[in-house]
Amino acid sequence: MFGRRQTEGRSPTIVSIPQVRLIELAAIFSIFYIAREIAGFDFRTGLVAGVFIAAAFLDILVASLGNARGGRILGRGAGEAWRWATVFVDLFTVIGLVYLTGTVASPFLFLLVLPLFFAGRLLPPLRAGAAVTLATVAAIAVLGALELRGTIPHFVCCDAGAAMPSGPHFLVGTLLVIAGFMSLMTYLFATFYDSFEVYLRTAEDRLVNSRHRISELTRLYDISLGINSVISLDTLLKMVCKEITLLLRRPWSSVLLLNPEGEIVRHVELGEEGVASNEPSPPIAEDRLVGAVLAASEGFVSEDAGADERIAGSPMIDGRELHPLLAVPIVSGRDDLGILMVGDREERPFGGEDVRLISILSGQVVSAIEKSRLYEVMSGRISRLEREAEDLRNTNKLKMNYISHLSHELKTPLTSIKAYVESLQDNIDNPEFVERDEFLGVISTETDRLIRMVNKVLDVSKIEFGQRTLKRKLFVLADVVAEVEQAMQPYLVDKQLDLRIGLPGDLPKIDGDEDLVKQVFINLLGNAVKFSAPGRRLFIDAVEDAVSVKITVRDEGTGIPEKDLTHIFEQFYQVGTSMGEGVGLGLAIVKNIVEQHGGWIQVSSTVGEGASFTFTLPKEHHFNDLLGYLFESIEASEEIQEMFQLSVQFIAEMLSAKIVSLMLLDRSRAELFIKGAYGLDERVVEKARVAVGRSIAGKVAETGEPLLVRDIETSGMKERSNDGQYETKSLVSVPLRVGNTVIGVINANNKISGESFTEDDLNLLVTVSERLSKVIERMRTAEDFSVFLKETIATLHSMIATCREDYHWLNRKTVEWSASIARKLRLSEKEVQVIQYVSSVHDVGMTCVSDDILNKTLALTPEEIDEIRKHPQRGAAIMRPLEFVEMVSQNILFHHERIDGKGYPMGLKGDQIPIGSRILAVLDAYASMMGARPFRHRLAVSETVGELIANSGTQFDGQVIKAFIEVLLDEGVIEIEDYTRFAEQLRYAGKHHPVT
Ligand code: ADP
Repeated sequence: MFGRRQTEGRSPTIVSIPQVRLIELAAIFSIFYIAREIAGFDFRTGLVAGVFIAAAFLDILVASLGNARGGRILGRGAGEAWRWATVFVDLFTVIGLVYLTGTVASPFLFLLVLPLFFAGRLLPPLRAGAAVTLATVAAIAVLGALELRGTIPHFVCCDAGAAMPSGPHFLVGTLLVIAGFMSLMTYLFATFYDSFEVYLRTAEDRLVNSRHRISELTRLYDISLGINSVISLDTLLKMVCKEITLLLRRPWSSVLLLNPEGEIVRHVELGEEGVASNEPSPPIAEDRLVGAVLAASEGFVSEDAGADERIAGSPMIDGRELHPLLAVPIVSGRDDLGILMVGDREERPFGGEDVRLISILSGQVVSAIEKSRLYEVMSGRISRLEREAEDLRNTNKLKMNYISHLSHELKTPLTSIKAYVESLQDNIDNPEFVERDEFLGVISTETDRLIRMVNKVLDVSKIEFGQRTLKRKLFVLADVVAEVEQAMQPYLVDKQLDLRIGLPGDLPKIDGDEDLVKQVFINLLGNAVKFSAPGRRLFIDAVEDAVSVKITVRDEGTGIPEKDLTHIFEQFYQVGTSMGEGVGLGLAIVKNIVEQHGGWIQVSSTVGEGASFTFTLPKEHHFNDLLGYLFESIEASEEIQEMFQLSVQFIAEMLSAKIVSLMLLDRSRAELFIKGAYGLDERVVEKARVAVGRSIAGKVAETGEPLLVRDIETSGMKERSNDGQYETKSLVSVPLRVGNTVIGVINANNKISGESFTEDDLNLLVTVSERLSKVIERMRTAEDFSVFLKETIATLHSMIATCREDYHWLNRKTVEWSASIARKLRLSEKEVQVIQYVSSVHDVGMTCVSDDILNKTLALTPEEIDEIRKHPQRGAAIMRPLEFVEMVSQNILFHHERIDGKGYPMGLKGDQIPIGSRILAVLDAYASMMGARPFRHRLAVSETVGELIANSGTQFDGQVIKAFIEVLLDEGVIEIEDYTRFAEQLRYAGKHHPVT
């Protein structure tokens, strides 16, 4: 290249320039190669070698061209261009190497190489060494900093004059640069190789670790989602067992629950035979394992459980052939709730990581258990409510019985009156008959007794049958109490009882029916007097709370045995057998009156020490009804409004109705007003008022019975001419109630299809109304009211979104069919209702799956499949604020299980899967095969059913498919020939996979 150096009087060069260039390139190549060997850089060696050879070839070519042209190595003037050509060849070689070695990815390394290349060419030999270091450091520091801050773009400037690449110092400089570069690299690698390697390894470890952590967290999140969506404790514990085995990848796990005495009250175990749960009765006390695990707060680890002295003989692990065992306590605050265990039959000991994971899980289990227990309490309350409803139905029967009992009771005083009257008649003319006064006295007493008995009976029946609606007004409690005291005076004096009244002077007025409240005091004080020995004290006290006044009537009498306390408020219930004068209605009346006022009553008593009755009455400025309370005292009325609004919208979507309204009851005016409306004109909403007992909604509010009107014209219910708003003549209306009290009504009109509403629509509406009632009830009791309300609102949003899905028409059909299938399988009407409801909302969890995944046409990645697989758990979790029936959440949770146990999330088999889920699985598959989903073409009915049958006994329940094809036949979707063929195929399929 620089054929003859521009010597300018200095000595000529000894080595030819092409040779130098070759050495130079070979050196750079070696640097990269050595770097690769030492630091394990992953170079594309072949390419690097290629570039090197190409550069060498170009260098030689350029040099020989120069030689050939001038006869000399290179002429001064004409040589200029050749000189530059060689510089560029070198430069591009270096850049090529930089690129191929990956150093281009780092601006620092790039900057390190380029200044070195130039510095060696610009400076005289002596300064080259210093310059190497300086240029490198300065260029890296300055350019790097500037570049990092974005001040300059990514390039390097240098002012190299044309004379630059000439002179012997250039050659020496080049060699020095290369040598310096080589030695620098060698030095750096030699010095820092170890720490560099250590650093790399830690970084790698950290990366692996954090990946591991992320997957662990995701897993734990999934688990908590799963276990938090379960309502019943039993399902929860089974799920926990399953999750432990998956999380720690061990075949055996078990959960023990303890009572406060530390005895085992529940034992759930998952082994090869699947999961089993039992409640040992009596509870198992003194299990060594329990003691050992609770004592080891950091987790109990055993290398060989079978031979471990500490836990030997525990029936919880005996015979399981476990080698390593890991157990941690489930602790809530200071209470030991139970134990989580996991074990293996192979000798793979547990590590610290396992202990950590299972401890985290145990923490999550605590809150899930507590929630679940709460739900069990709630469902206890619900079944109590249901029992009460049943009781009410029995009341009529009871009353009839009572009439005969009462006749008997009435006969006793009557017989005695008659006897005395007859004696008096016999002796009417006998002046000697001195007992006359005494006889008359007895007659008078017995008559009074009769009157009292009859009055009580009348009162209870009046209140019971709603004839006596509350005559509300504001009154002073002290006045009422004083009146009662006055009336009771003779009895108090008679028994020398000391009545102490402790009402605070500033007690607010009561908002209620004064006469009825008086009755409450008379009955309670009457009992207190009756059951107190002479000379004892009686107390009436009162305190004010947020919405009511709490009143206590207490005596020091005989008291009530504990076993009777729970029954004492029942009608006709009396302690012991002595019927005496009482009829067992006094307290029933009291309870009824208090509850009509929206209050509650409780009793506590110790036999021999007395009894104490506490009840509440609404205080001034507060509606008696629950909603009044909610609207008045909580600053969330906007959210409540939103909740009602969303509810009607959801109902409209679900029933495909054009108009839905939710009306609430204004008790003081005995009217219904609209609280949430869909499809109604705003003016209508504002002014609509319906009197209780009038028109359809009013009648439903009055009777509390759901109503389906197929044709308003012929139903005899129409009061005014059919309003312009109502296109169709059919409508449904159901009550909204809290406990036994109707608080409003939900109405739906105008089916979009123009058809009339069906029984099934009515059932769906009842199911939803029951859930809304539950929400309202929970709003009052929820610990965090606004959080609960927000959750409910989110739930409703998701439910609306689910109802709006594209394949909605098919969905509507499947809702209908789910009920038909359930009926064909002879399930109870209650189950049918639940299944129908669940089928309309079961895919609510899908609203959490992103649209990108749902609309994807290509195959899904494992992560995406995972995401979709979570939807049953998500669905159950979403529905939770609205749910109180375990069956609903289970049906949602398990609708992707398979008969052969290969489904998700639990891998349940056959009968373990709730029947509702099995029905949903079939209908879901049918709907998705029939509907044109992006990832699949539509199939014909026969192909679809064929597909279902082919999977009968593995994926689907044969019985359900059988019922389903019957439904399809009934609906006219398939012909009788198809049906026979399908039935035949199904029988055949059944032979291969016995239907469970
Ligand atoms: P009755 O109308 O017959 O008085 P109640 O409903 O008032 O019936 O009371 C039911 C039962 O509760 C009574 O038979 C009585 O044994 C018991 N009882 C009610 N109040 C008291 C009290 N203050 N002390 C002890 N027992 C009571």
